[in-house]
Amino acid sequence: FADTAMYHAKRRGRNNFQFYSADLTARASERMRIESALRRALQRNELELYFQPQIDMTDGAFVGAEALLRWKRLGQGIMLPHKFIPVAEESGLIVGIGEWVLAQACGAAVAWNRHREQPLRVAVNLSTRQFILNDLAGTVRRILDETGCPPQWLELEITESLLLEDSKEIRATLETFDRMGLSIAIDDFGTGYSALSYLHRFPVKRIKIDRSFVRGVPSDRRKSEVVKAMISIAQAMSLEVLAEGVETPLQAIYLQAHGCRLAQGHLFGIPLPRSGFEAMAGNDRGIVS
Ligand code: C2E
Ligand code: MG
Ligand code: MG
Ligand code: MG
Repeated sequence: FADTAMYHAKRRGRNNFQFYSADLTARASERMRIESALRRALQRNELELYFQPQIDMTDGAFVGAEALLRWKRLGQGIMLPHKFIPVAEESGLIVGIGEWVLAQACGAAVAWNRHREQPLRVAVNLSTRQFILNDLAGTVRRILDETGCPPQWLELEITESLLLEDSKEIRATLETFDRMGLSIAIDDFGTGYSALSYLHRFPVKRIKIDRSFVRGVPSDRRKSEVVKAMISIAQAMSLEVLAEGVETPLQAIYLQAHGCRLAQGHLFGIPLPRSGFEAMAGNDRGIVS
């Protein structure tokens, strides 16, 4: 009996290994395909920055936009970031792509705010690897300079995991950003290993409540309570709070009732190419600039 069991275990083991390695090989070659195409994407102008409005729910005013990357490959439709950002991060291509994103975003803010009394702020997502592989503060300073964008118009979105790296260099970079007058937002708040104590130790201006929590509002009691608690925490720590992924009027009502004024989500606008965003946002006088 023992021999038979061993025989089956070995067989099963070997089969599992074969499935596993075939799957890994397929995924590795998919990654390599994406990576080599991504290497040429910038030169070929295949990357485009979309903009999603951020609004103040109390008066419906646009306060800013988050810049979101899209990859338009000829004849292949749009590829969303979850498919290629990880590849860009692992290969280091994120450094060049990230610089391009920053320059495009700052350029857009300068164009929008030429005709506005209340300037819009543009928010850019940063990957941890951009902090590690690159003099990020120097890069940002140069891009602000080249585009003529005041630092107050740029917000940098980082994740909790970046703060948990607990690195001197990352802390120094964030402090430089703060001294330069940029604002820093914690993206996807609540999905990381949220030890609230770390927030105090960094120059963070705003938290963005992750949409996985907002999705449960108001029907899911527990998630709704968590959202309420996050808003209270933000207020207690004098942080601004913005809710991500707001899709329904009931969510907007709940958020406002508990003190969250700022929101982003399909209810207020999907990410659009720059021209589409500009047509929607217009300028202070409601005229497209
Ligand atoms: P994120 O920073 O959390 O961006 C918000 C995501 O939520 C976007 O997905 C946006 O399209 C989506 N979203 C917004 N409102 C709603 C809503 O009401 N309902 C639902 N279901 N989704 C909504 P997207 O554009 O696919 O981007 C995914 C992630 O890719 C981003 O998440 C961000 O972490 C990353 N990413 C995007 N652009 C860049 C970039 O330029 N650089 C880096 N490093 N990461 C980027
Ligand atoms: Mg973001
Ligand atoms: Mg993000
Ligand atoms: Mg997010």
